[in-house]
Amino acid sequence: MSEAWSKKLPTNMNHEVCGRIVIRPDRVRPFLERHPWVRATSIELIEGAPPDGSVVDVVSRQGKFIARGIFNSRSQIRVRLYTWQDQPLDEPFWRHRLESAIALRRQLGLDTPNGATRLVFSESDGLSGLIIDKYRDFLVLQVNALGFQQRLETIVGILQELLNPKGIIARTDMEIRDQEGITFESPVTWGNVPPGPILVQEHGLDVGVDLLSGQKTGLYLDQRDNRLAAARLVKGKRVLDMFCYTGGFSLVASRCGQAKEVWGFDSSEKAIVMARANAQQNGVTNTRFEVGDAFQTLKSLRQEEERFDVVILDPPKFASGKSTLPEAFRAYHYLNRLAIDVLNPGGYLVTCSCSGYVTREDFFNVLFGVSQQVGRDIQILEQRGAAPDHPVLVTCRETHYLKCFICRVL
Ligand code: SAH
Repeated sequence: MSEAWSKKLPTNMNHEVCGRIVIRPDRVRPFLERHPWVRATSIELIEGAPPDGSVVDVVSRQGKFIARGIFNSRSQIRVRLYTWQDQPLDEPFWRHRLESAIALRRQLGLDTPNGATRLVFSESDGLSGLIIDKYRDFLVLQVNALGFQQRLETIVGILQELLNPKGIIARTDMEIRDQEGITFESPVTWGNVPPGPILVQEHGLDVGVDLLSGQKTGLYLDQRDNRLAAARLVKGKRVLDMFCYTGGFSLVASRCGQAKEVWGFDSSEKAIVMARANAQQNGVTNTRFEVGDAFQTLKSLRQEEERFDVVILDPPKFASGKSTLPEAFRAYHYLNRLAIDVLNPGGYLVTCSCSGYVTREDFFNVLFGVSQQVGRDIQILEQRGAAPDHPVLVTCRETHYLKCFICRVL
């Protein structure tokens, strides 16, 4: 560990309860129902001046214990809740949570020596604010909560014991850093970390992943099964992969699905360089990857009368909160409309939304609106979600974020 990092460790690292958060009586229900995010608007009173990152109890106005979590005055999520029992949030607690999460992925057969899997998915694994992906022998942590920055040494120690990885990388997202008051300079590393991209296996392909500076933790593992589902439709067809990143859907379509030809576009030049390298690495010769904004590209393709048999849309999150929903709906509508404009009659649309605030029903309604506007029938064949290493926690609907609808458009 670097010295700069150890200097930034906070002094208050104990797990004693440092304060009480009294919830407004009219806002108490979600926490009784075990939703893990306490926002400022739900709080009536903060007792005991808890420091950011310290453990607090969430109680009713009558002082009755509801749950225990970690406080952060800087975050919109003032308290992240971890337990609804009177138990300490100490090393054995975190160890138990990590063990349970890892056991699931092993049971699913996803923890393979050469593959990649999400070992810990934040709220879904009772670890709000912590994501851990495993790529071969390396772990990449995405630290999305100040509480986990402060407990990083504990978490890393447990992971080293449980998994003995070659190297561990802790990263943060620029946007979330500011929202959470996270201060460490990302990435922080332990052990031997590869300086450049490594190869991991997915669906028999060798996929390059940059653990230190790829998007998020390196790959979008949530779409693993959807890439194969989409590939089932593409045999002998002309495919357009919008928001292709490093070529995930494209390569599986070409190799596993035997597509005739695949064009992939992404706004990130780095992603496109990697996509081309991935094609070459796997001897795939019928893909073409170009840098381009999806909206502009779709408009140009429409104008140039390029038409496709399958269009895949996997855009980034359009809605970051409830206030941005109307804008997000407009963007989803416009994007899907443009995609259908370049889709041959009877073609397939694989359309995704990863905004947690956009429900399945909302996304359905977007397609309804598009169908009305273009006057073409849309048949939904499959309504898919994220791969099972990204479980959906029923008490936290935001974990049900990924929608992937496979449709035929007449
Ligand atoms: N389908 C990919 C993951 C896509 S993630 C896979 O299977 O791996 C979303 C991608 O959208 C990112 O790669 C990001 O660089 C890209 N992106 C964001 N805004 C964009 C835009 N306006 N036009 C094109 N690509 C965009």
